[in-house]
Amino acid sequence: MSLVLRVDGPRWRAHLRGTADRLPGLVPVAKGNGYGFGLPRLARRAQWLGVDTVAVGLYEELPHVHQRFDGDLLVLSPWRPHSAAPAGLGVDERRVVHSVGRLADLLALAERGRADGHRPRVVLERVTSMLRHGMTDDELAEAAATVRQGGVRLEGVALHLPLPPARPGHAAPSHVHEVERLLAGPGLQAVLATTERARVWVSHLDDAELETLALRHPGLSWRPRVGTSLWLGERTALRVTATVLDAHAVQRGDTYGYRQRSAPRRGTVLVVSGGTSHGVGLEAPTGQGTLKARAATLARGSLDAAGFVRSPYVVGGKHRLFAEPPHMQVSMLFLPLGAPVPEVGEEIDVRLRYTTTAFDRVEVS
Ligand SMILES: *Cc1c(COP(=O)(O)O)cnc(C)c1O
Repeated sequence: MSLVLRVDGPRWRAHLRGTADRLPGLVPVAKGNGYGFGLPRLARRAQWLGVDTVAVGLYEELPHVHQRFDGDLLVLSPWRPHSAAPAGLGVDERRVVHSVGRLADLLALAERGRADGHRPRVVLERVTSMLRHGMTDDELAEAAATVRQGGVRLEGVALHLPLPPARPGHAAPSHVHEVERLLAGPGLQAVLATTERARVWVSHLDDAELETLALRHPGLSWRPRVGTSLWLGERTALRVTATVLDAHAVQRGDTYGYRQRSAPRRGTVLVVSGGTSHGVGLEAPTGQGTLKARAATLARGSLDAAGFVRSPYVVGGKHRLFAEPPHMQVSMLFLPLGAPVPEVGEEIDVRLRYTTTAFDRVEVS
């Protein structure tokens, strides 16, 4: 009765292992809904991979990870004075590496460390073209002075780059230039000079860019933080299925559902598992932009002209239309006469975004 993420285990694990072998210094990212797999499972997989650090998004995610993975825990969202303290979450502060994106926060964190009798471990974030978090080069120069005073332990600098734009037929512009421009800043250089282990934590560089940077900067230790292309990089190993729960033949004009809509033609109302609580939402209606086009298709009895919206459920090789907006745990689809009607209990494919879906079960073979 559920929405299930099915994983071809051997294939998935081979991809994870292959990615870790290809990317020395890999830092798996385990955040949010755990990319569909859940945080605990990703933490155990990171342990199995043998990496030394896992990144979480939020402090609140640390408790889901810290007992399943025994290395360092990098928190990606920048530390703020109001951030939850690891100790308060039951997590050993010594394992936690804080991202710091503002000078004031660096001073406050060092102050808090002094009060608690420890030196917080920090990665200083340099703002990039992404313009999300981080310090300018001038601010990093001041941060370097603070680091030298010894209130914190420096674990490197971080660069969060935008995703390369998808331009079919064109090579994506390289991030290498931006990374090298930022690295050359005197402030960033001053920060790196305070540590023997000059580590650069990066996001969204591809394999070729990392390889180029590693070759050109052999003195730096590169730490790629990777989520999507690690956990979800082998799509053929992943499949999402829903179960057919009921099927009702309807005539044109029969009413159904919470909204008592009437069927625009003969067909089947198919009830399947998965609803709003799983993150199944309404997608854009299929095609047919203009009113005139809609009127024409309406005259032909077309379903999307009748206001039906495309669903992520696939039956007979086609995305089917929602008969009405998804309910909390089930959805109703409309199959026109002539479409194959699956049996109750049969499993059908669903195409959903893994990062926004709450699966009832994850089955790894
Ligand atoms: C989420 C996140 C990542 C991982 O992103 P993916 O696109 O899933 O690989 C890396 N770095 C930062 C700072 C992030 O917030």
